[in-house]
Amino acid sequence: MAKEELFYKKKFIWEDLNESEKKEVFEIGEDYKSFMDASKTERLSINEIVRRAKEQGFKSLEEIKEIKPGTKVYYVNKGKSAALVVIGKEKLEKGMNIVGSHVDSPRIDIKQNPLYEDQGMSLLKTHYYGGVRKYQWVTLPLALYGTVVKANGEKIHIAIGDDENDPVFYITDLLPHLAKDQNEKKLGEAIEGEGLNVIIGSLPAEGKDDDKKFKLNVLKILNEKYGMIEEDFQTAELEIVPAGKARDVGIDRGMISAYGQDDRVCAYTSLKAIFEVENNEKAAVALFADKEEVGSNGSTGMHSEFFNNMVAEMILIENGNFYSDITLKRALSNSSMLSSDVAAGVDPTYKEVSELQNAAVMGQGVAMIKYTGSRGKSGANDANAEFIGKIRKVFNDNNITWQTAELGKVDQGGGGTIAYIMANLNMDVVDIGVPVLSMHAPFEVVSKTDVYMTYKAYKAFYNLYN
Ligand code: MN
Ligand code: MN
Repeated sequence: MAKEELFYKKKFIWEDLNESEKKEVFEIGEDYKSFMDASKTERLSINEIVRRAKEQGFKSLEEIKEIKPGTKVYYVNKGKSAALVVIGKEKLEKGMNIVGSHVDSPRIDIKQNPLYEDQGMSLLKTHYYGGVRKYQWVTLPLALYGTVVKANGEKIHIAIGDDENDPVFYITDLLPHLAKDQNEKKLGEAIEGEGLNVIIGSLPAEGKDDDKKFKLNVLKILNEKYGMIEEDFQTAELEIVPAGKARDVGIDRGMISAYGQDDRVCAYTSLKAIFEVENNEKAAVALFADKEEVGSNGSTGMHSEFFNNMVAEMILIENGNFYSDITLKRALSNSSMLSSDVAAGVDPTYKEVSELQNAAVMGQGVAMIKYTGSRGKSGANDANAEFIGKIRKVFNDNNITWQTAELGKVDQGGGGTIAYIMANLNMDVVDIGVPVLSMHAPFEVVSKTDVYMTYKAYKAFYNLYN
């Protein structure tokens, strides 16, 4: 056998693409950026996913009267998680091909009683969400998004900071001249959780004698604009995210910087892939979960029954208003799933945290992560060789450029995804997603070629059948 055939060799996607594929890489990049700009929070991501799904002929589960090959269904759970299904030729009992991502991203949440004034400024107290490196979130333009439920039950949506005419918000840091004590602290402790206070105003209300006139001015503006009173904060979900749009990175425009690419890049690529599913044997599912960054708990996290319930409802319709639990169990355990979440790309400046022989290189394709976890694979869904062998075949048959990866050197750290939760339903699951740089930073970076190849990979997976 020739030497070239014996060695395993990785390659860069770009080098294998023809001119029309190269053009497609950039076209998808543009569409992806517009998806990201519309999807700054989990709720907005679900709205954008549903908006696009309706355009593609998906109908809400409530409207569906018949389940037959080609039926396109979507189901939204409490505005924060969702599933899209394209029914295949086989019945649901035979299993589904599922690509599951998450649409929540690390951010700074506003506390329930947040507003105070100090030194001529109004500020909001916050509690960060997910694994943020706190020092990265200071001195940036920030946007405020969220949902406020008023005393009468009325729901208002807030979005301030991403329109170019909007103001932005801001978390301060010390000036270097006075940072002697802070500089002595460890990086992870230099900015404290209770130090992530957001400036929301700086002008006093009219009337010299008013106590708390800076706070009062903010409340007056919120009342004029949204009819809010201070108590309404108590029943609000307000999120601070970086202000600004997705942008190309590099003089060749090969990469994209955007907030929340973990894991909306996998949401986008799986969405694009399911829109192109046709004549599929098994039902194709794109699953979009919330709460992954905080452990997947809660009614909109992957630990919730929402997806199982949706499949149960579909089985009921498919079988002419007859349902049995064993059909649901078979549908789930006969399924295959790609837990579609980002991988840590090798950072040339911080190579020492990766074991380079088993790390995802930017631009070398969608990354398959057999196991996650930490300290001896603890907590990992360690995918079966038989299953990843099937994935290898479908990828190779479809000219997918893919690589295997691990989240950093052994004992350097680690992490998890929704993979193990779905694997607990006895389906085959492996983590497969886009390599990213500066994961969980306010702006993360991906390669356009990896975005393109990940979409191609998910599309190929949806045709998996055996
Ligand atoms: Mn993730
Ligand atoms: Mn994450």
